[in-house]
Amino acid sequence: MASQDSVDHKYVYDFAEGNKELKDLLGGKGANLAEMTNLGLPVPPGFTITTVACKAYLETGREPDGLAGQIEAHLESLEREMGRKLGDPQDPLLVSVRSGAKFSMPGMMETVLNVGLNDRSVVGLSAQAGGNDRFAWDSYRRLIQMFGKTVCEVPGEEFEHALDEAKRAKGTQNDLDLDADDLRGLVDAYKKIFAKHTGREFPQEPREQLDLAIRAVFESWNAERAVVYRRQERIPADLGTAVNVVAMVFGNLGSDSGTGVAFTRDPGSGAQGIYGDYLANAQGEDVVAGIRNTVPLQELERIDKKSYDELLGYMARLEEHYKDLCDIEFTIERGKLWMLQTRVGKRTAAAAFVIAGQLVDEGLIDLDEALHRVNGAQLAQLMFPRFKLDHEFEAVAKGIGASPGAASGKVVFTSARAVELAAEGQAVILVRRETNPDDLNGMIAAQGILTSRGGKTSHAAVVARGMGKTCVSGADELDVNIPAKKFTVAGQTVSEGDIVSIDGTTGKVYLGQVPVMPSEVVQYFEGSLDPEHIDNALVRAVHRIMTHADARRRLAVRTNADTGADAARARRFGAEGIGLCRTEHMFLGDRRELVERLILARTDDERESALAALLPLQRDDFVEIFREMDGLPVTVRLIDPPLHEFLPPLEQLAVNVAVAQERGEDVAKEEALLAAVRRMHEENPMLGLRGVRLGLVIPGLFAMQVRAIAEAAVTVARGGAVAKPEIMVPLVGAVQELETVRAEAEKIIAEVVADSGVEVLIGTMIEVPRAALTAGQIAEAAQFFSFGTNDLTQMAWGFSRDDVEGAFFWRYLELGIFGISPFESIDREGVGRLVRIAAEEGRAARPELKLGVCGEHGGDPDSVHFFHEVGLDYVSCSPFRVPVARLEAGRAAVETDGSDSR
Ligand code: ADP
Ligand code: MG
Ligand code: MG
Repeated sequence: MASQDSVDHKYVYDFAEGNKELKDLLGGKGANLAEMTNLGLPVPPGFTITTVACKAYLETGREPDGLAGQIEAHLESLEREMGRKLGDPQDPLLVSVRSGAKFSMPGMMETVLNVGLNDRSVVGLSAQAGGNDRFAWDSYRRLIQMFGKTVCEVPGEEFEHALDEAKRAKGTQNDLDLDADDLRGLVDAYKKIFAKHTGREFPQEPREQLDLAIRAVFESWNAERAVVYRRQERIPADLGTAVNVVAMVFGNLGSDSGTGVAFTRDPGSGAQGIYGDYLANAQGEDVVAGIRNTVPLQELERIDKKSYDELLGYMARLEEHYKDLCDIEFTIERGKLWMLQTRVGKRTAAAAFVIAGQLVDEGLIDLDEALHRVNGAQLAQLMFPRFKLDHEFEAVAKGIGASPGAASGKVVFTSARAVELAAEGQAVILVRRETNPDDLNGMIAAQGILTSRGGKTSHAAVVARGMGKTCVSGADELDVNIPAKKFTVAGQTVSEGDIVSIDGTTGKVYLGQVPVMPSEVVQYFEGSLDPEHIDNALVRAVHRIMTHADARRRLAVRTNADTGADAARARRFGAEGIGLCRTEHMFLGDRRELVERLILARTDDERESALAALLPLQRDDFVEIFREMDGLPVTVRLIDPPLHEFLPPLEQLAVNVAVAQERGEDVAKEEALLAAVRRMHEENPMLGLRGVRLGLVIPGLFAMQVRAIAEAAVTVARGGAVAKPEIMVPLVGAVQELETVRAEAEKIIAEVVADSGVEVLIGTMIEVPRAALTAGQIAEAAQFFSFGTNDLTQMAWGFSRDDVEGAFFWRYLELGIFGISPFESIDREGVGRLVRIAAEEGRAARPELKLGVCGEHGGDPDSVHFFHEVGLDYVSCSPFRVPVARLEAGRAAVETDGSDSR
C-alpha cells in the first residue's frame, strides 16, 4: 500500500493485514482489532502504526523515514473506503487515535477521539447527522478536552471545571441537559483554556491534529506513570506502544445510540452468563468514568433487541475463537453495532480456575492448556483465609495489595507499641506513612501492615512479602498523623487501639473487625471437602487441575517439617516425603538444660552424659516423624546453628549473675554460662562454628544424632511401618569434611540397623559456593545433594539474609538491580548457575545421585520451573506451599516438555 520509493520497512498495517499473534508488533489492541476484522465482525476500518515505529521515534526523537508517507497512504485508503475525507468541512471523516501496547496497561496511556473536527467541519458533522447540532458540538468539545489533556498537557481539571460551570449555569447535574448552544459556548471556553496553557490556538488543520496525536501516543510510553506502572508489573521498558487510527463511530447520536463494555463470563467468579454495562447516548470513556449511571448489559435487550442479540452472537464467537474469557468494548450508532476492542480478560484467581475447568468441560481446551492457564500465585491466593463481606462492611480506602492475606487488629502507629501489645497477646495492625528498617520489630509483631505511601516495591511491601505478612501499601486516602496517633479516612478518625481490617489481596481497608472465613481450597486439601460431592465450582476445578498437574509433573514435591503434626498436614497437602527436617528445635524448651550441660562440659564424661541424655529424646522425635511419613523418605539435617544460639543472651546472663550475687546465691553456673557466651561469641556467626564444623569439633554430637535417627528407624520398622531416613550434613564446602562425618556415621548405622532391613542414606546440603564448584568430588561421598538455596544465595551474593531485605532491598528493586528479591525467587544467572554446575558435575560423578532443593525457593513458582529445567528430582517447601509446588511442577512439565511428550 505504501508508495514504492518511500520505504524498505513496513511501519503501518491495515486491520485486514494483522492478526492476534502479532501483539509484539501491533500491540494487543491492534492485533485483536485485526483479528476481529478478519473474523468478519463489524469493526470500524482503520490501521495500526507499529511498535517498531514507536521505538524508532523514542530513540531518535523524530518519526522514522518513510512513516509519514505510509500514514498518508493508509489514510487515503481509509478515506476512500469511508467515502469521506479527514476533517472535510462538508462531510468530515473523524478518527480516534488510540494507544495499545503488547501488555494492557489500563489507564496508563492515551487515546484521543474525534480527531478531524474544527470550526468548519463541526458544521459538516452536524449536517451528516441530519442537523444534529448538539451531537456535533458535543463531539468537538470532547476533542478539545482530550487533545488538550493528552497531547498538550493542559490540566484536565480546567476542562472539568468549565463543564461543571456550564451545567451550573443551566441548573442541571446532567451533561445531557446541555443543548447545542451551551456546548458551543463550552467549545469557546475550552479553546480559551487551551490557548492559555499552550500559547497557541487549538490546531484547526486535521492532518496536524492527527500527527500530533500520534506523536503524543508514542510519547505516552515514557510518561512517568507508565514507567512506574511497568516497573511494578515487571513489564519490559523497551517494548514501545503501537498506535491505532480508527474511523469514529458515534454512541452520542441520541437515545438509539450508546456505548458499553461486556465480559463473556463473570471475571470475578468465573460463572457463565452475561456481564457488562451499557450507557445510552454516550461516547467512549463515559461508561467507565462514572459520569452517568450505566445500566446492566441485560437491559440492552429491552432497549435494542437486534443489537443485543447480535452482540451476544459475537461474544459467543469470540469466546470460541480465543477459547477464553474475553472482554469487549462496543458502541451502537443509531441501531448499528460496532465492535471497538476485545482482549482475553483479566480475572480473579478463583475465576481463573473455574473458567479453565469450564472450558475443558466445553471441549474448548484440554487439561494441559487448563493447567497452563492458572498459576501457583493464584492458588496461593486462594489458600489464604478471606474476609466474609456482607453489607455491613464497606471499604473506606483502597491501596495496593502488597502481600496477600486478611488481617484485623488494633491500630498502632509505632513499632514499639506493636511489640508491646503483641507481647500481651493482642492482634495489631501497624499503620505508618511508609515503613523503614527501624519498623522491623513492629512488622514482625503485627498481624498486618498498612501504609499510606509506597507501591509494590516499597520497604513495607518487600519486607512483608518476605515475612509472609499481610500488607496494604500506598492507601493514599489515609491521612496518617503519627505523633497524634491517629489517621483520618473518609471523614472518620481512627485512633490508636481502634480496630481495622486489611485485605492484602485486594488492597482494601475496612473499619472494625471483619469476620474471616477459612479457605475452601485449604479445606479441600485437608480432606474435609469432597470435590465429587459438593456443589462448589471452585473446589471442583482446583481438584481437577491439581490431579492433572500431579499426573504430568516430573518433580516430586516434599515438605520442610520438623514435627509429626507438620509432617501429617503436609502429607495431606500431597507431600511425598520430607526434604528438610531440622533438628535444632529438638534442643530447645526443657532440653536447653541438657544443651547447656553439653556446652559447659569440661570432661569427656560430662559431655557424654549430656549427649546420652539427649539421645532418647531425639529418637522419640524421629519415631513420631517417621511414623507419620510411613513409606516416604525423610531427610534429617544434622544440627546446623552455632551452639551459642542455644544460650541466653549476654545481657540477660550478666543481669542474672548480678542479681544472684546480690541475693547471696550460688552463681557458679551463671558465671560459667556467661564465660561460655563470651568465649563463643562470633563476629559473623553465620560464617562461624556451625553445620558440619560443629560435628568435626564437638566429639560425639553428630554420632548421637545419627544413632538417634538409626534407632528410630529400626523402632518404626519393627512396628511394621517403613522408615526411609536420609541423613543430611549441612554446610559442607569440601569433600573431606563429608568423608570424616560419613566414616563415623556409617559405623554407627551398620551397628544399629544390622539386619533390620532399614536403609539409611547419607548426603549433604549444597549451600556453600565451594561445594557447588567441587560437586564432582563431593558426590563421591554423598548419596544425595539437597540445595540449600537460602544460604547459597546469602553466600553467593554476600547478603546477610536476616538484614538485607529490611535494610536496602527496596532500593535495589527501585533501581532494577533485580526485579524480585533473590531470596524470594532464585537468581537464575548467579545462584542458579551454581545449582546447575553442581547438578551436572554431581551426576557425572555419580549417576544415581538424588538431587533436591530445600528452602523457600522450593515453593516459589518461578524457581520451581527452574529446578524442573535443571533436572532435579524434587523440591521441598513449607507445608502450605506444597500444593503450589505441585501445580507449578505440573505446569513446568507441560510448558517445557511440550503437550504430547508423555
Ligand atoms: P483504553 O485503552 O483506555 O480502553 P481506547 O483506545 O480503547 O482506550 O479508547 C477509549 C474509549 O474510546 C473506549 O471506550 C473506546 O471504545 C472508545 N473509542 C475508541 N475508538 C473509537 C472509535 N473509533 N469510535 C468510537 N469510540 C471509540
Ligand atoms: Mg479500550
Ligand atoms: Mg543453611
